[in-house]
Amino acid sequence: MRILVIEDDQSQRMLLSGLLLHNGHEVIEAATGAEAWDVIASGGIRVLIVDRLLPDIDGLSLLRRIRSVPLPGYVYAIVITSVEGRDSLLESLDAGADDYIAKPFDKSELVARLKIGERILRLETRLTDLAKKDYLTELLNRYAFIKQAEIEFDRARRENSRFGLIMMDLDHFKLVNDRHGHLAGDETLKLVADTLRCTCRPYDIICRWGGEEFLILTPGCDLTNTARTAERLRAVLPTKAVGLPGGGSVSVTGSFGVVAYVPGADDEVADMIGRADEALYDAKNAGRNAVRTA
Ligand code: GH3
Ligand code: MG
Ligand code: MG
Ligand code: MG
Repeated sequence: MRILVIEDDQSQRMLLSGLLLHNGHEVIEAATGAEAWDVIASGGIRVLIVDRLLPDIDGLSLLRRIRSVPLPGYVYAIVITSVEGRDSLLESLDAGADDYIAKPFDKSELVARLKIGERILRLETRLTDLAKKDYLTELLNRYAFIKQAEIEFDRARRENSRFGLIMMDLDHFKLVNDRHGHLAGDETLKLVADTLRCTCRPYDIICRWGGEEFLILTPGCDLTNTARTAERLRAVLPTKAVGLPGGGSVSVTGSFGVVAYVPGADDEVADMIGRADEALYDAKNAGRNAVRTA
């Protein structure tokens, strides 16, 4: 694991770091609360060991600050301190510590306690992965897509860059269920998801927006590029088919609405999705199996 060691006493810091490195961990060191905060705020820290008494800030204030802001993932925090007594333990837990170790610390106890942290973080990662995915297609779900789209939006605003958005709705999908049953319908949705994954670029963000509706965000692309991607998808979709148990196969077509973010525009993610949806309706009205831009 990557562990942030926050300790002002150099010999203690070296002792801790040496032990962690010896146990196969990666170590980042900070001697003050301010240094530690910079590392934490930049993301990527999941475990930290913090000394309670630091030169610039109380280690517990640092913990309270960590617990009060949204970070990309849970940070497992162990307080290590020479401040003795039950009050210090209770204060640490109250400030947001997950565990507490008194100095001088026992090496094997610290290693064992880090394993608790490792177990909890593994569980958290598994749960957040599950929470982001659509169960059937394993694409991102609506919630995870919105979060990622907001990140792309901020990036585009900051860097004056572009991105596009494609909304796709399968044509007459109800008929697939009605004629071939829900299982065949489910298999078709999975095949459509695979087709999207294979046809889009690795850094495109693909989501199952709802039943038979999908959204694709294309970072760095303008309207023309994004419409080209949609056209490629439109063309490839009906070439894929799901085999039926009794022989025969099912294939589907889709209708596509395409929009792009223009640098400087002040619309929000929801506005863009709304416009993509309107363009999609144009594609449906034009007879389906079509791409329309907003
Ligand atoms: P249109 O071309 O106008 O979009 O027609 P449509 O039939 O695709 O649209 P409609 O909204 O009438 O029907 C959507 C269908 O998608 C109905 C619903 O049963 C099906 N559907 C949604 N989610 C799932 C799913 O998870 N599995 C299966 N098998 N079908 C689904
Ligand atoms: Mg200290
Ligand atoms: Mg629909
Ligand atoms: Mg449909």
